[in-house]
Amino acid sequence: MDIVNKSLPLIAIDGPAGAGKSSTSQAVAKRLGVPFLDTGALYRAAAWAVNKTDVNPLDAAAVARVVEKAAITIVEASKGLLVVVDGVDITTALREPLITKIVGPVCEVPEVRNKLVAMQRCWAERGFGVMEGRDIGTVVLPQARLKVFITARPEVRARRRLKELNLPDESKTIAQLTAEIIERDQRDSQRANSPLKQADDAILLDNSDMIFGEQVDFILRLAARRFEMRLYGV
Ligand code: C5P
Repeated sequence: MDIVNKSLPLIAIDGPAGAGKSSTSQAVAKRLGVPFLDTGALYRAAAWAVNKTDVNPLDAAAVARVVEKAAITIVEASKGLLVVVDGVDITTALREPLITKIVGPVCEVPEVRNKLVAMQRCWAERGFGVMEGRDIGTVVLPQARLKVFITARPEVRARRRLKELNLPDESKTIAQLTAEIIERDQRDSQRANSPLKQADDAILLDNSDMIFGEQVDFILRLAARRFEMRLYGV
């Protein structure tokens, strides 16, 4: 695919856990030739910093102190985005189950959000790129000219998750995973600070019945229309 018009503004992609936001956003960014930021990785980096100490992740004041002190940086390397905390490349550790477990309370601490939202806005200062998270269109980049809210039915997300986990396909497991996903959606959308919410001007993309390439092309076509670009091959 060639891009005729290179003046690409910012694209904000939000949505619940397991909707495929990260892989989709990354593919969109790659095909547009612009940088990509997975903001969940920053919250996970904050959780990693907390986990390195003996601080209880539920102790908001102590979490705030640890994260405010931690040097969290993102490095756009040729092999992809690297996350570095206090000089240590922790990119591969970010998806560990322990981090997934403690990131929930850590990301709700206002000082943590303030610090990481400031970093995200700084990243966006170059004026173009694809940023993905939960509150990008509503809080971080309300000025983004293209906002997409990606979602899928909870049981579809549960099936995808089951595939990722490589567990046997038993309906009970699907039911359990679906219940967990619904619970996580509720927690994300009901939290006081930056809840998961579709921005009023975001376009809804329910990818329950789409294959991966279709959703990438859907966003690329939106971008082409919104930014008056000519894209070939979508
Ligand atoms: O997307 P991912 O699972 O990596 O996100 C990790 C955690 O960070 C989740 O608990 C999610 O709710 C939170 N998060 C957030 N705001 C964002 C991105 C992620 O609160 N912009």
